[in-house]
Amino acid sequence: MNRVIVVGGGNAALCAAISAREQGADVTVLERAPFGQRGGNSRFTAGGMRVVYDGNDDMRALMPDLTEDELARTDFGAYPRDRFYDDMGRITEYRTDPDLAGKLIDESFDTLRWMTGHGVRFLPMYGRQSFETDGRVRFWGGLTVEAWGGGPGLVDSLTDIARRGGVDIRYGARAVALELKAGRVCGVRTADAALAADAVVLACGGFESNAAWRAQYLGPGWEIAKVRGTRFNTGDGIRMALDAGAASRGNWSGCHAVAWDMHAPDFGDLDVGDNFQKHSYPLGVVLNAEGRRFVDEGADFRNYTYAKYGREILRQTGQFAWQVFDGKVLPLLRDEYRIKRMTKVSADSLEALVKKLDGVDAAQALATLQAFNAAVDVDTPFDPAVKDGRAARGIDPPKSNWANRLDTPPFEAYGVTCGITFTFGGLHVDDQSRVVGVDGAPIEGLYAAGELVGGLFYFNYPGGTGLTSGAVFGRTAGRNAASGPG
Ligand SMILES: Cc1cc2nc3c(=O)[nH]c(=O)nc-3n(C[C@H](O)[C@H](O)[C@H](O)COP(=O)(O)OP(=O)(O)OC[C@H]3O[C@@H](n4cnc5c(N)ncnc54)[C@H](O)[C@@H]3O)c2cc1C
Repeated sequence: MNRVIVVGGGNAALCAAISAREQGADVTVLERAPFGQRGGNSRFTAGGMRVVYDGNDDMRALMPDLTEDELARTDFGAYPRDRFYDDMGRITEYRTDPDLAGKLIDESFDTLRWMTGHGVRFLPMYGRQSFETDGRVRFWGGLTVEAWGGGPGLVDSLTDIARRGGVDIRYGARAVALELKAGRVCGVRTADAALAADAVVLACGGFESNAAWRAQYLGPGWEIAKVRGTRFNTGDGIRMALDAGAASRGNWSGCHAVAWDMHAPDFGDLDVGDNFQKHSYPLGVVLNAEGRRFVDEGADFRNYTYAKYGREILRQTGQFAWQVFDGKVLPLLRDEYRIKRMTKVSADSLEALVKKLDGVDAAQALATLQAFNAAVDVDTPFDPAVKDGRAARGIDPPKSNWANRLDTPPFEAYGVTCGITFTFGGLHVDDQSRVVGVDGAPIEGLYAAGELVGGLFYFNYPGGTGLTSGAVFGRTAGRNAASGPG
């Protein structure tokens, strides 16, 4: 029986462990975090997973609990393979590795089916990815399913499946180095033990929680960003593999970063999960310290802009911004705008609101909002479920969709800064999840999956792809670690 060690404790590691065990391997998971903080960034997510599907039958296959009533009142649409390809290409400016992206896309549905087969449950992501228009609930952004119980539910369910299957999960077990013999990986060293293995799967996250590496690789200022998730992803897996001769790959100066409450703690808080994020900016206007707009809030659906707008906020004076909304759109704001721990001000007029925006040039902010209002094309109907083309033009930057005059009290504003989610650069991994060495050949006995894989995401990211990537490549890594690539 092959002995497989999986390093990590999130979605990618647990999928790898389940998959390796399914092949009959003797599997140990080393999770650096103590039990109470287990689960990595995966636990902080909403559990949203981007998957290829074709209409209601596929939705039913992933979500057997769907009722006839839900099916009748919901327009799930479809997310064909070609659209996922287009999204990955367009969003990464055609830098994504076609083999890795191809595998991610082609195996997305089958991998989620594999997960449901093991007992993971999915639900429609009604709250954040659909709008109700004309009596029907319509999904709009290719991201339609979420794990039951969100990220915590996903981690708990994968942990139960792994444990029931006989996987040994050790918490508070930090891997520090790989053991090598004649160029082959033959084990892992922790602080107090050397553990032998026939194969090792690295699934222990990127380097987003390492302030020094952020400044070194992402650039000056990134040490100031808040970390949205776990404090434990400090690049250990990447460093261990590079030390063992692996090749680096991908967008090392790039990362996923979003608008995040300006007073959120330095690392994620499991009681709040992902709710410090503020992702309804396509429905409003975003101002910086100078009182000016600096992004096209409606350039595309939120799923295709949110991951790059955190960087834009970091670039602004003081690394903060305020998102401004009026009473008309408040009922459409996502659930994260209704939590207690938020930086929020409200007023009955724009004149009063701008005075409450801490750190902002109030006179310029008012002038910007008035100029925005004057530029809105009120003749085109507003429809948040499609790219409605209701623009504000003749101002810089323009707002390309969903432009509404800010004219209805109450007016609300939310203070945000940059929250980093995960880093894009990492290891060179092939489509069999083998880690490739600097000489171009796979390193025997070494596999990797999840955030530490380089080459998939560049500059930006289509929402809900991280968990799917971890599941697809984790499953492959576990299978191949157990039995060697087929
Ligand atoms: C707030 C937030 C919301 C998100 N929402 C979504 C979403 O809805 N959908 C989506 O697809 N993606 C989402 N993401 C991105 C998603 O979390 C990641 O893409 C995905 O979870 C990565 O999985 P992973 O298993 O590679 O890493 P992680 O889940 O981060 O797991 C890495 C694990 O490695 C462990 N570890 C680190 N170093 C060591 C070591 N030396 N030894 C042993 N263990 C170690 C850590 O403790 C951790 O358990 C979100 C991220 C955040 C932070």
